[in-house]
Amino acid sequence: MRLYYTDSFLTEFDAEVVEVSSTPRPAVVLDRTAFYPTSGGQVFDTGSLEASGVRLPVLEVAEQDDRILHYLDATPAELRSGTRVHGSIDLPRRRDHMQQHSGQHVLSAAFIRLFDMPTVSFHMGDEVCTIDLDTKSAMAEQVERAEDLANQVVMEDRPVEIRFVSVEEARGLGVRKLPPVEREQLRLIDIHEFDLTACGGTHVGRTGQIGAILVRKIEKVRQGVRVEFVCGGRAIAASRRDLAALNGAASVLSAHIWELPQQVRKLADECKAARKLRSELLNELAELHASRLLQETPEENGFRVVVKVFPDRDLEFVKLLAQKLVRTTGQRSVALLGSGEGSPALVFAQTAGLPYDMGTLMKEALAQSGGRGGGTKDMAQGGVASVELLETTLERIRSKLR
Ligand SMILES: [Zn+2]
Repeated sequence: MRLYYTDSFLTEFDAEVVEVSSTPRPAVVLDRTAFYPTSGGQVFDTGSLEASGVRLPVLEVAEQDDRILHYLDATPAELRSGTRVHGSIDLPRRRDHMQQHSGQHVLSAAFIRLFDMPTVSFHMGDEVCTIDLDTKSAMAEQVERAEDLANQVVMEDRPVEIRFVSVEEARGLGVRKLPPVEREQLRLIDIHEFDLTACGGTHVGRTGQIGAILVRKIEKVRQGVRVEFVCGGRAIAASRRDLAALNGAASVLSAHIWELPQQVRKLADECKAARKLRSELLNELAELHASRLLQETPEENGFRVVVKVFPDRDLEFVKLLAQKLVRTTGQRSVALLGSGEGSPALVFAQTAGLPYDMGTLMKEALAQSGGRGGGTKDMAQGGVASVELLETTLERIRSKLR
């Protein structure tokens, strides 16, 4: 017997064990229970069963072939068919589930009443709940109106009643959602003059007990539009978390939380402009370095070999510099460069047409130092283990060019 069918507020009950099983998991079946098993989008209750002075935590409750299985840590020997037990439901968890589930009925009904958008599925997660609406799109303004109507129904504190009717009667009553399986009797959740739905879940006694209904997100999904929402205690917890995050961001920017969107946009624009300027300056700097290095380096056999380590420059800059060195108009050169900023790295480059092979030279350079890298005939790069290796490796490779 499912005690929660007629009373969602019953959290203490006595029952008798009718079945004990230890595989695949320790579990008991009772002759009557107030524990709700996962079904219809709502998750299971937790709590405990007490048998001859021993308290056994109920970890999970599931439905299997019309039996309700109460999963336990273990099934002690004294727990057998016929044992009397006292069950206690974790009330805060049950109350939370009632708030979410009743809130869902109200919100789903609001979407139908206002925009004829039926709910095709409901999911209750640990933190948030979602409903999927059968509609191509839902505008933010429509969602807001449904949220407003749902909260109005909460504030009107309408009675929520459980009714049992035949399928025939249910059809005549205009029930919002009828289950696909034909049953003799249907359990209806009746939100006074607002919604009538066939449902097996645990619900509040009056809509006021739901607390606030807060929509958090709208998302397009394959079967329609997904609306994420939280009710009651979860709405307070979510708002509190949001406020803490906003306050954190606002204090970094010394702004009010309402100014955050403009402030963040301004920062992002400034950041973009600064990145652009930085890249232009680095380009200019690389050109200056390249022309000075080419002037300082004497030409031998018709080309110059520039060898230099930049301890404070990263690989990106050194690669840029190598390109400038070997592509300066009217010059033929080989660049053997090292970058010390970040992971130490080598960059080899040559003006197209010179006879060496930078990829092969890089492999030779790294063979001794144990690094990784490679490249093409005209450009190659590779990493070495330490900054100290840069200078010696470059000298070694330079000697091969003579
Ligand atoms: Zn329901």
